[in-house]
Amino acid sequence: MQETELLIENLRDFILREVEPLAEKIDREDWYPRDLVRKMGELGYLDPMGNGLSLYQTCLILEELAKVSGSVALIQDAQGELVTEPIRKFSNNDVVDELSSGKIIGGFGLSEPCCGSDAKSIKTKAEKDGGGWRITGEKMWTTQGLYADVFLIIAKADEGLSAFLVRKSDCLKTEKIEVMGNRGTGTAHLFLEGCWTDQKIGNLGKGWEVAKYALTIGRVAISAISIGLAEGSIQEALDWARQREVMSQLLINYQGIRWYIADVMSKLLAVKSLLKDASVTLSDLSVSSLKLFSSNVSQEAVDVALQIMGGMGYAKGTKTERAYRDVRLTRIGEGTDEVQKNIIGKYLKENHRSTQFF
Ligand SMILES: Cc1cc2nc3c(=O)[nH]c(=O)nc-3n(C[C@H](O)[C@H](O)[C@H](O)COP(=O)(O)OP(=O)(O)OC[C@H]3O[C@@H](n4cnc5c(N)ncnc54)[C@H](O)[C@@H]3O)c2cc1C
Repeated sequence: MQETELLIENLRDFILREVEPLAEKIDREDWYPRDLVRKMGELGYLDPMGNGLSLYQTCLILEELAKVSGSVALIQDAQGELVTEPIRKFSNNDVVDELSSGKIIGGFGLSEPCCGSDAKSIKTKAEKDGGGWRITGEKMWTTQGLYADVFLIIAKADEGLSAFLVRKSDCLKTEKIEVMGNRGTGTAHLFLEGCWTDQKIGNLGKGWEVAKYALTIGRVAISAISIGLAEGSIQEALDWARQREVMSQLLINYQGIRWYIADVMSKLLAVKSLLKDASVTLSDLSVSSLKLFSSNVSQEAVDVALQIMGGMGYAKGTKTERAYRDVRLTRIGEGTDEVQKNIIGKYLKENHRSTQFF
């Protein structure tokens, strides 16, 4: 059996035993599954790239997780792709091993109350103090922020945007942000009140390179999450349509119902090939196109699944109801639709003679 097939088979078994039974509780109770995160770390699922897997294989893991729980998939994305992998790429900080194994939790702090899409205008400052820096400012929407032990923080130093590792201590306060979907992921507003650190990640003034790398692989990762959410819902709707009888017919026997599914399945298959390409090239054009297309197609697919299930799709306790809320984030987090269009538009403006696509 091929390496990837074996990986997915073992993962599916793990998800059935360990993730599926918790998915509903994580969402309803806004409950962070700390022990599950540790188990994922022990098995290498928390940091696949650090365990020798490619970004594409990481995406297959995310897709499987998201079929069952968008929240657990987002936790993997935050810990693995937004924090651990960028720290590994730009430093030899030994915190990577603890993050990779799930012994400690990490948060990625780029967005601020002032600035999400306009991330280069952030206000958090890093002021030189002795052999290190004091970090002062606020970070907004940090996934795992409520539970994180360490934070990868992007701040303005004298040299320009720079990345730092900041440990949780009395100087760092967190406030819970209640969100619509992907609940139980510890979304937080952070207040950094002169937190001292001597650990920079990458070179001073080169923090945007760190953030950009995190966002690039993060955008591919969140696209995989959107696909998994769509597939989980479509599967649920298909199962429903095969056993629900309406007007003396099983729903699946109506051509109109099958056309709904055929329409979104064809788009999902196109998204999946785009993901294969973007996870290797990592070019701005392919990654932003993937992020824009996958999140919109997946939202449409979850909506179709909900419609097919009728009232049942609107009811708590169905995968589709949860995915309907979870999938909405994928058009916002790690760069909105509009930001992706700006990136694609900038490429087209600057490369009008490109033969790559015309
Ligand atoms: C649940 C959740 C988890 C998150 N996790 C993290 C995390 O772990 N770490 C982190 O750093 N951030 C995180 N984020 C933040 C996320 O990346 C931002 O919300 C996102 O980048 C948008 O920023 P904003 O919310 O400030 O919206 P704004 O930047 O205020 O944008 C508002 C609207 O205006 C549009 N817009 C902005 N500029 C333009 C323009 N030039 N042209 C046209 N339209 C424009 C936007 O697309 C959007 O529709 C998370 C967000 C959520 C909701």
